[in-house]
Parts: sequence; structure tokens; C-alpha cells
Amino acid sequence: MKAHQRSKELYERAVKVIPGGVNSPVRAFRAVGGDPVFIQRGEGAYLYDVDGNRYLDCIGSWGPLLLGHAHPDILSAISAQLPHGTTFGAPTELEVQFAEELCEAVPSLQKVRLVSSGTEATMSAIRVARGYTGRDVIVKFEGCYHGHADFLLAKAGSGVATLGLPECAGVPASITANTLTLPYNDVQALHTAFKEHGSAIAGVIVEPVVGNMGCVPPTPGFLEALREVTQRHGALLLFDEVMTGFRLAYGGAQERFGIMPDLTMLGKIAGGGLPLGAFGGRADIMDMVAPVGPVYQAGTLSGNPVAVAAGLATVQTLKARRHVLYERLDAMGSKLSDALRYAAEEAGVPVVVNQIGSMITVFFTDLPAVSNYAQAKTSNTQRFARWFRTLLEEGVYWPPSQFESAFLSDAMSEEDIFRLIEAARVGFHKAREVA
Ligand SMILES: *Cc1c(COP(=O)(O)O)cnc(C)c1O
Repeated sequence: MKAHQRSKELYERAVKVIPGGVNSPVRAFRAVGGDPVFIQRGEGAYLYDVDGNRYLDCIGSWGPLLLGHAHPDILSAISAQLPHGTTFGAPTELEVQFAEELCEAVPSLQKVRLVSSGTEATMSAIRVARGYTGRDVIVKFEGCYHGHADFLLAKAGSGVATLGLPECAGVPASITANTLTLPYNDVQALHTAFKEHGSAIAGVIVEPVVGNMGCVPPTPGFLEALREVTQRHGALLLFDEVMTGFRLAYGGAQERFGIMPDLTMLGKIAGGGLPLGAFGGRADIMDMVAPVGPVYQAGTLSGNPVAVAAGLATVQTLKARRHVLYERLDAMGSKLSDALRYAAEEAGVPVVVNQIGSMITVFFTDLPAVSNYAQAKTSNTQRFARWFRTLLEEGVYWPPSQFESAFLSDAMSEEDIFRLIEAARVGFHKAREVA
């Protein structure tokens, strides 16, 4: 590993003109006691920094890059669109085709609207849920992250958890007053909340598999309970599949677990690495959206043809490969998680490795399991930081936070996974030195 000289210089310039030197907080490496690495380019499973170092990329731009960097099919779809123009502010054939593909892929989608980010998708979907039910209260879960809209930042995961922020400044209490926050995987708390507030609850928004407090899958029966209780009380069930969509199965977590939400949010993989999000669901609910219904929602760049071209190429590539791709990722993920557990045990470092498909987190905790945010928070983040820095030194780019999921990609080879396990083994021995 060469010195990060050029990264250092860029960071010094960056902090003068960009808050913290980054355009999204987790990129800053704050929680792991380092400066961010500046990236020059990506290729397949690898990232190259501005000092000429190569890393196996286990972040994948925080979710979008299931197919790896600079995938030829996606690049050529983008190139094919460019000469025709970059935005029209008018409907196109491409977005119709894309919407058809999304509705075919994701089991519960009947109608869908495109936006430009996951944040926009979740805040719009919640407006629709409130408009449809005529109710105000939204239920969310501790440690789940649904983008940075005001009313969804209560006890949020991702960067909010990484930085240990108790509350987000600038969010009026009157706005989060309609957000009810419950522990994830707690069916009892869910029933209690509905018993007390059932008639006021517009919807429950959930990451069907959490990635934003680290990877935390639902315990058996939790998603079923969400479906049952919302239906019984006339509330909507919103699956935020911005991370899990096209990652855990072609049809997302709802296909994998066989639970149909009323509304679904997509982003990340669905945009093929360009800014794109989507929200959709039952046709009668989506017909609440203007210009058909009274719920206003709009966007100058919504359905942007370049982003749609990238998204469509991604979805079509996944569709063609889905019968091998998801099985391959599942096998790679479970092999990796077994190897990490073994390596940690060998080094005498207690960990819980949560993994499902291509999502994986190593929690540095003594607990026997991590199934909610309170349990995730017992992790020794100093130990994690030491492990992370060793991986980086060994050429593995792992999320710089205990509370983020790492992602495998289809661009990774068996050999890449082997290298990753070797780096992790070195990391566990270093982590043991931290009390
Ligand atoms: C990333 C993410 C979002 C926010 O998407 P952005 O495109 O960053 O606005 C929302 N929900 C979940 C589950 C996410 O992982």
C-alpha cells in the first residue's frame, strides 16, 4: 500500500469548501479515525485511489453496484442515450419500458413513479400513505434509515447511527411528533402501538431486511406480523427496498420472504449507478398521486432518460442472469460469513456475523445475536475501527462504520473472497489488541 499523499492533499482542499470534505457524512471515515480515500476509478470488483492503490470494493457505492463498477452493458446503454439528449421534461418510451420492467420484477408493484433518489421515494410514498388513509401517524423502527426527510430522521440508522447523533438539529419536534419509533423485530411492541394508536396510523415503513444498522434480517414471523396488523387496522405497509430491491432477489425482499407490501420504494441498484429512485404499489393507492389524485408529487429530472437507460440496462442484465446470480451471491455470502466467524474465533475475538445473500456485517459484540438496534449498539466500535483500518491497509474497502452493511457484488471472484478472508484474519488479530 502506497502512502495516501494525494488523498491527503485533496482532503485538505475539500474541507475548505465542502462541509467535512464530503458530500455524504459516512464517506468521511470519522468513526474509524482516518481520512477518506479519494477514488479515481472503478473497474469490476475493484476501486483505484488517486495514489495508485487498488481495493476490493465491499461498499459498491453503498448499494447500487450489484454488478460491479463500469459494467459494459450499463456503460453502453448510457452511451447510446447521450447523443439523443440528457433531459426533456416530457414522457419517453424508455421510462414506460422501465416502469413495465419494474412492475414485472417486483411482485407487489402495479403502478410506479420515478424520482431521483431513495430519499425522495420514501418521503413521497409516505405522503401517499397519509393521503390515502387520511391519517397522520407513521410507524418506523429504531436503526432503520429511510433517507434524510425530516419526519424519518427519528432514531435513524446509517450515518446518524455512525456519528452517534441523538437527534438531528433542524428537525422541529412538531414534525417528528407524528413518527412513532419502535424496536425492530419486536412483535409485542408492534401490537401495543397499534392497540393504543391504531386508528391514527397511516402506515408502517420498514427495511424488510435492515442494512442501515448493519445487516439485521427479520426474525421469523416479524414481517408476517407487520402485514397482519396493518391490514387489520386499515394502515398501509411500506417496504423500503431502496437497499434490498434487486439485491436479495430479483423481486427484492418481498419475493424472498413472500410478503406483499402495499407500497414499495426502490433506488440504488434500480438506478444502475445513476441518480434514480422509484415508489409504487397497488394501483388504487398509486392513483392518489397527481395528476390523477390529490397527492402532489413532482420532479424536474424525474424519469431522466440517462438514469432510466442505466436502470433499464441493469434490470435487464439481472433478469437475464437471475437464475444463476442470486444463488451465486447467496453461496458466496454464506461461505464468507462462515469463514469470518471461524477466523474471529481463532483470533479469540467475539463477533456476531449477520449475513443474508450479498449483505453482511461483522458486529464486534459479546452478545449471542444481533436482531435490533440496541443489540447492535453494544458493539465495540474501537475494535471495529482497528479491524476496518487493517482491511483498508490490506487492500479491502469495507464500510467505515460498524452500523453499515457490506455488499458483495457479482463482479467478485472466488479468489477475491479468499483474499478478503485473509485480510479479515489479519484484521481480527489486530482487533484483539484493542480492549
Ligand atoms: C440509501 C437508502 C435510502 C436513501 O436513498 P438515497 O438515494 O441515499 O436518498 C433510503 N432507504 C434505504 C433503506 C436506504 O438504504
